[in-house]
Amino acid sequence: MMSTAEGKLVVVSGFSGVGKGTVIASLLETHPEYALSVSATTRDPREYEIDGVHYHFISKDRFEQMIREDDLLEYASYLNNYYGTPKTFVTDNIAQGRDVLLEIEIQGARKVKAACPDALMLFVMPPSAQVLRERLVGRGSEKPEDVDARLRRAAREAEGIEEYDYILINDDIEACAERMHSLIRAYHQKTSFHLDFIQEVRNDLINL
Ligand code: 5GP
Repeated sequence: MMSTAEGKLVVVSGFSGVGKGTVIASLLETHPEYALSVSATTRDPREYEIDGVHYHFISKDRFEQMIREDDLLEYASYLNNYYGTPKTFVTDNIAQGRDVLLEIEIQGARKVKAACPDALMLFVMPPSAQVLRERLVGRGSEKPEDVDARLRRAAREAEGIEEYDYILINDDIEACAERMHSLIRAYHQKTSFHLDFIQEVRNDLINL
């Protein structure tokens, strides 16, 4: 059983353009106690993205080396690029008692759940499909053919939403971030994480 002193792994997925990155950024601003995993990727940086902050931007060769050396907790291929979660950051922070957020797509999420069944699985949804299209077009960071590819991918990913524990609707960034925080806090109180404490109180009750 996982000790209660350890942090929890929190997987956050959601369609491209749903604003999950912005929601997480808002959560970290008000709750800096969370640790956000920075993924490695072979995709090109967007104009505003900083190496080491948004992603570790690396070559395909380097990524494949990380796979070979077992440096990744999980990885997946998304629209012809690799994305993966470096392992040490996650294990170090969990061991130090910090909750670690992974912003990853569904194939990676499934691998994390299989390897770490205690991971909390959250899926960020748009208020409607139409809002998602408008946000993706409005973001302006993708070419029109990439917007279409991301929407087709969203339709496929939508089939797996029931594998997640909770959905969060991103109707308002700050409100959504607070709901995310509440769900994570509640998750810490799950009975199965406190079996030792429960048993201790049970034993003490008998001996009173
Ligand atoms: P984007 O190119 O929009 O930054 O990311 C594309 C997709 O890859 C998003 O759904 C994002 O959550 C996902 N992603 C980012 N990092 C990782 C990772 O380390 N592993 C996996 N499996 N997916 C990731």
